[in-house]
Amino acid sequence: MKVRTRFAPSPTGKVHIGNIRVAIYNWLFARHTGGEFVLRVEDTDIERSTPEAIHALFDTMEWLNLDVDGEPLYQTSRQQAHLDAAETLLEKGLAYKEDKGGTGQGECVIFRMPGTDVTFVDGIKGKMTKKAENMQDFVIVRSNGTPVFHLANVLDDIEQGITHVIRGDDHVENTFRHIALYEALGAEVPNFSHLPMIVNHQGKPYSKRDGDAFVGDYREKGFLPDALVNYLALLGWSPGDDREVMTREEMVEAFTLERCQSSAAQFDMKKLTWMNGEYMQKLPMDDFSAICFGELEKAGIDAEPEYAEKVFELVRERVRTVADIAPMVSYFFTDDYEYDEKAVSKKLQKDGVAETLAQVRAILEALPSFDMASTDKALHDFVEQSGLGFGAVMPPVRIAVSGTQSGPDLFPVLAVLGREQVLKRIDQAVARYLA
Ligand code: GLU
Repeated sequence: MKVRTRFAPSPTGKVHIGNIRVAIYNWLFARHTGGEFVLRVEDTDIERSTPEAIHALFDTMEWLNLDVDGEPLYQTSRQQAHLDAAETLLEKGLAYKEDKGGTGQGECVIFRMPGTDVTFVDGIKGKMTKKAENMQDFVIVRSNGTPVFHLANVLDDIEQGITHVIRGDDHVENTFRHIALYEALGAEVPNFSHLPMIVNHQGKPYSKRDGDAFVGDYREKGFLPDALVNYLALLGWSPGDDREVMTREEMVEAFTLERCQSSAAQFDMKKLTWMNGEYMQKLPMDDFSAICFGELEKAGIDAEPEYAEKVFELVRERVRTVADIAPMVSYFFTDDYEYDEKAVSKKLQKDGVAETLAQVRAILEALPSFDMASTDKALHDFVEQSGLGFGAVMPPVRIAVSGTQSGPDLFPVLAVLGREQVLKRIDQAVARYLA
């Protein structure tokens, strides 16, 4: 039997990370088994499923590079088939009509539960049973003539030949009903697996109140799609060893439903940011540079390519997300950079710093050659001979030339900036804060 999984979202315009994790697991399972992964757009909520919302969904799938097999199926295109099936159930006595609530608004079609317990073996949770007495008949066609989710969802899974339904925990209750529907329709029941929710640090479902809950938020903030996919894949699944940063191929190779955890998975922004940094480091330098140039352009920074490349190499190790780039490098491209006022008052505006900077300036000006090694040696010698200590020399120099206390190693920074800029910046900082 060839595996066929699907992602069946109801487009609302923004794709929640929990939803896309469901897509990722379906994709991984299909690719692992050599099966197929299809898309179904559950677009029956006409108000929310606008063309823009559907476009946002496709765009997200494409950005994350989750390739689907074949054309997507639109649930609305199947309405007649859904109604025909309801008619057949009525004819067989497996459903009946009723004016619900006696409102006179017309009759609904109601599915008759078979009156037996429903049991299935969940691929993640194991055996699940619901007693007959705890399940009631339910509406499958509304009085306005539109099919209800349960009917449409099951019929479309049958139509698309889905063998494995992998979806969120919130659908477990539905699954008991759906299995009864499959049986009434004479269709083979697929395998069901329910993924635990993504939760916040309090164990509550992760929502936009907890932080960025939509894929688009991460895209805007400069996360790499591969990092996000890797992180979300590990949120509730593990390869069984301690690997964390994994290529798609490695994840596809290792993915099994048995290794999915049945307890809720806690979203950890720090870990995602760390992982994104790992992916940033792994990018080929050309790709990294291209991203950096793009960020400079967005920030309106003009950059001479050869110089810019040197800057990018310098910050490469420190970049965690694409959004870090422009703020991290902007001072290399303008001497009108912002000073971190806290750093200035703590480290620069102190007794003796004016004299120290004057001495450092003189030393740097007099160096026969100005590069990483020579500035390094000159400032270390100065620290030693003056007896001032590193803390009294290096931070003021760094703040003077970059406006900030943090950044790559100081000496490569000085070398890339070049002597002229370094001297100019020391003068500028002195004039501004120490005059
Ligand atoms: N449209 C439903 C949802 O997004 C589909 C659930 C399913 O995967 O069956 O929750």
